[in-house]
Amino acid sequence: MDLIDLHTHTTASDGSLTPRELVAAARRAGLRAVAVTDHDTVDGLAEALAAGRELGVEVVPGVEISVNRPGTSAGMHMLGLYVEPDRAGLTAGLRRLQKAREERNPKIAARLQELGVSATMEEVSAVSGGGQISRAHFAQVLAAKGVTANRREAFARYLGNDAPAYVPKFRLDAAEAIALLRAAGGVPVLAHPGLLKLEGAQLESLLRRLRDQGLEGLEAHYSEHDAALRRRLESLAARLGLAVSGGSDFHGDPKPDIKLGWGRGDLRTPAGLLAEIKRRRDRIRGKGGD
Ligand code: AMP
Ligand code: MN
Ligand code: MN
Ligand code: MN
Repeated sequence: MDLIDLHTHTTASDGSLTPRELVAAARRAGLRAVAVTDHDTVDGLAEALAAGRELGVEVVPGVEISVNRPGTSAGMHMLGLYVEPDRAGLTAGLRRLQKAREERNPKIAARLQELGVSATMEEVSAVSGGGQISRAHFAQVLAAKGVTANRREAFARYLGNDAPAYVPKFRLDAAEAIALLRAAGGVPVLAHPGLLKLEGAQLESLLRRLRDQGLEGLEAHYSEHDAALRRRLESLAARLGLAVSGGSDFHGDPKPDIKLGWGRGDLRTPAGLLAEIKRRRDRIRGKGGD
């Protein structure tokens, strides 16, 4: 079966491969297409697209945006596939998220200091590969210095949402993110719905609401979704008229057990899914179709 991977990260956010290295890895893995979907930034896309042309790999320019979960104080992630990177509205929205991170990161460093451990801005910058800094980099520094046994323990003890060095993160409203993505010619897809831990009826009502705001797809195939959940999400997508997407959430070293394309070994996102996503892209851009 021809496979694709529509959810990956590079050094532009918290992945460990540069965009070029990621595209080379996709080629070695035999993937038909790979989407680059860094957190709240499109900075890796130009390099990935150039590498894709050079290496003969279809690269889907994407982004993964941090959004508010309607009706709660929690967050969720909205993927945009086939975004045009330099559209003003999208750039402005991402800039707000990036500025919020720039203000948040020193607060995380200060909070750690108060707790008697240290990961300084200099140290997290040094491991970030020049891209955007996130909690994943604080975890990397804490583990590298032996403050915690590994990155997972760094989240459990210090950085996780319920841990003492957690600092809340600004997010866009879901409807706003959907509108920005569509205005940038992109296809909005709800990332990893299984991680929301919602019951069937709650998930369905969330999806209906997002669909009315312009959501086009659902990430049914995902490393952390088991086979039964993937099937349930595929039928839910069909029932709601949403496209099915799929990806591993590959990060390289930060998530060493997730393999590009294959996730935990059982991920199979068929290349055939791309046709429907492209059809929706063309419709959003007003080219052909209904
Ligand atoms: P941030 O966007 O700064 O809040 O950081 C979130 C990033 O940290 C995510 O993109 C994940 O890659 C990573 N992350 C979040 N929670 C955990 C966790 N419990 N264990 C390991 N990595 C995590
Ligand atoms: Mn991440
Ligand atoms: Mn995510
Ligand atoms: Mn991701």
